[in-house]
Amino acid sequence: MLDTPNTLTPAINSKTIATGKKILTGDRATGQLHLGHYVGSLKQRVELQQGNQQTILVADMQGLTDNGNTPSKVASNILNVVADYLAVGINPAQTTICLQSGVPALAELTMYYANLVSIARLERNPTVKNEIQGKNFGRSIPAGFLTYPISQAADITAFQAQLVPVGDDQLPMLEQTNEIVRKVNALANSEILVECHPLLSNVSRLPSADGKSKMSKSLGNVITLDASDQAIGQAVKAMYTDPSHLTIDQPGQIEGNVVFTYLDAFHPDTIFIAELKKHYQRGGLGDGKTKQILTDCLQALIAPIRARRQRLIADKGYLTEVLKKGTEQAKEESQQTLDKVKTAFGLNLL
Ligand code: ATP
Ligand code: MG
Repeated sequence: MLDTPNTLTPAINSKTIATGKKILTGDRATGQLHLGHYVGSLKQRVELQQGNQQTILVADMQGLTDNGNTPSKVASNILNVVADYLAVGINPAQTTICLQSGVPALAELTMYYANLVSIARLERNPTVKNEIQGKNFGRSIPAGFLTYPISQAADITAFQAQLVPVGDDQLPMLEQTNEIVRKVNALANSEILVECHPLLSNVSRLPSADGKSKMSKSLGNVITLDASDQAIGQAVKAMYTDPSHLTIDQPGQIEGNVVFTYLDAFHPDTIFIAELKKHYQRGGLGDGKTKQILTDCLQALIAPIRARRQRLIADKGYLTEVLKKGTEQAKEESQQTLDKVKTAFGLNLL
């Protein structure tokens, strides 16, 4: 079947969220979660869990797509991710937390959808394209890696998700998902799957401290959600500011100044930050001072999360139990979608 044209899905802002929506999102089990996850997605998930039907997926199979030779990296991070969820305030009584490899319908849906997507379409996905370059696969791109957007489409559609709270690197995945939805619905001659909308936060791509790339687990440039006060201080100290701001008296530039990007993302007092920016721009405010304000703010944000996380990670039995319960729920829900999709392909003899 030919690819359908690329039509942009309108992004939704959290302020326009209606309640009663089905929501799906997830994270690769490739390391501890970090501040990019916090502002890009986790904060919204905590707000959304009340009044919506939210499922969160620990994407262990997707984690394998670039770790096939080092699977222990994925296995050892599954409970780390669950601990991060609970530490930031995701409540398993309100949100279903499940493990991708424990929900067989997801792999099955991936196989059906794979027949509706061309290799050329997969190669055009800009996020995957960037990641392939960054990972130096050369000519040995794992098939699972090139096709992971199909598996993400399976994850999203299995739960009939209408909203997906993500960072902006995920927008191309949602486009591909909706293309698949339209093709399956055309086959079924009925709206058996729903199209999804991205839910972008105000900070849809938190940069790394050097400002050169996105904060990301695999790039090793993260501030984790259990970072010590000392680690936070060091990371802020190394942050890129304005290289031409050589003395305190000189006017400084806000644009591209990572310290201000972070202050905008994390500081609760927006009026104070607006004043601080003006002061910096007219001169008389040093980077030492702005970095101290940011350090204090991040330390205050992370301290309670770190304390909760330390208690949680010490109780692996409880974390496993939470995941098991959520996975059972997810199995049931996704099976219903799988049955409909198989019927759309005419494969419902048994
Ligand atoms: P990896 O390097 O293994 O891909 P990652 O750090 O990119 O890990 P993911 O598990 O791929 O994290 O992403 C999970 C979710 O968090 C996605 O919705 C993604 O858009 C969002 N996210 C990740 N990093 C950031 C960031 N720096 N800023 C905003 N959102 C982010
Ligand atoms: Mg990623």
